[in-house]
Amino acid sequence: MKKTVVAHIAIMVIAVALGSLLASYLIDQQNQISVNRDKLSTAPLGGFNKFASDVQWMLFVNYAGGIDCVEKPEAEEIYKRLNAILANDPDLEIAYNIGGMMISNSDPVKSAEIFMRGAYNQNLKNNWQIPFSAGFVLDRYVTDKDDPDRLKKAEDMFRLAASRAGDNAPYITSALLKVRAKRIAEKGKWSGIQVVNDEHALLCAMFDEWRKNGGTADAAQPSDSMNIPDLKDRLLRAAQNAKASDPTNKNILDTLAKVMKVVSEDQHLCGNCLSPYAAGDKFCGQCGTAVVVFAVCPKCSAVMKGKFCSSCGSTDKTK
Ligand SMILES: [Zn+2]
Ligand SMILES: [Zn+2]
Repeated sequence: MKKTVVAHIAIMVIAVALGSLLASYLIDQQNQISVNRDKLSTAPLGGFNKFASDVQWMLFVNYAGGIDCVEKPEAEEIYKRLNAILANDPDLEIAYNIGGMMISNSDPVKSAEIFMRGAYNQNLKNNWQIPFSAGFVLDRYVTDKDDPDRLKKAEDMFRLAASRAGDNAPYITSALLKVRAKRIAEKGKWSGIQVVNDEHALLCAMFDEWRKNGGTADAAQPSDSMNIPDLKDRLLRAAQNAKASDPTNKNILDTLAKVMKVVSEDQHLCGNCLSPYAAGDKFCGQCGTAVVVFAVCPKCSAVMKGKFCSSCGSTDKTK
């Protein structure tokens, strides 16, 4: 008799244990199928959340069409409605795009929050406009007083947008580099050098990106870098602009020295205006400054085209 009671209890315990294992397995499965389940509203809609959000969205459009301007009170109402819509359908891209844009002026912090929520939604991970808008609002409209981390967040958002957009939107790269430059300017120092102006900061930002890309324009991409078209040309232009902004500033010249040492290894650049010049050139074609002549025959000074001088037949022993 006692034995059967023990057996019963044992079976019950095992059953409960198996049941909870099965339950957690099923929840895992469910979460895989429906990624946003835990973010959905718990309102008793009997699974009609999507339908409810569609109705709410129509009402929202109707409301938005009826207001003349978006000031603080309207922004609050819009934000409230957006939250209700997104609680029922977190994947409604248009709600992030339109809603976030509508309140970007009157309540940039909440606008950025909406955009960032959309940007981090895994079901919308192919959408680059949402993170770009988030970065844009954080960069242009949110102030340091609102959020001291806004530039860092903006940079993250632009990076996310750039990784999703591929080559489709080169202006994302420009926006990203400008935000990086602002962060460098805010910090005031770069590689131990005092940053003196915006052009200088942009040069530093671009050089950082260059180094991240492995120092060449088309090297294998490390994971946190992105393919910036014409990075080398942009870097040279940034260097020229930085120099032109304050030609005798020691901090800028120090930075240029660092940049040029790495970047111009395979290219000869005029020491004055940083334009590239060709083998045999004695003066810069852009500014007329004397340059260090390279790749000429040590005997007759003709431009060397190969191992031997094509004018006098002597060989360049340095090669
Ligand atoms: Zn020059
Ligand atoms: Zn020669």
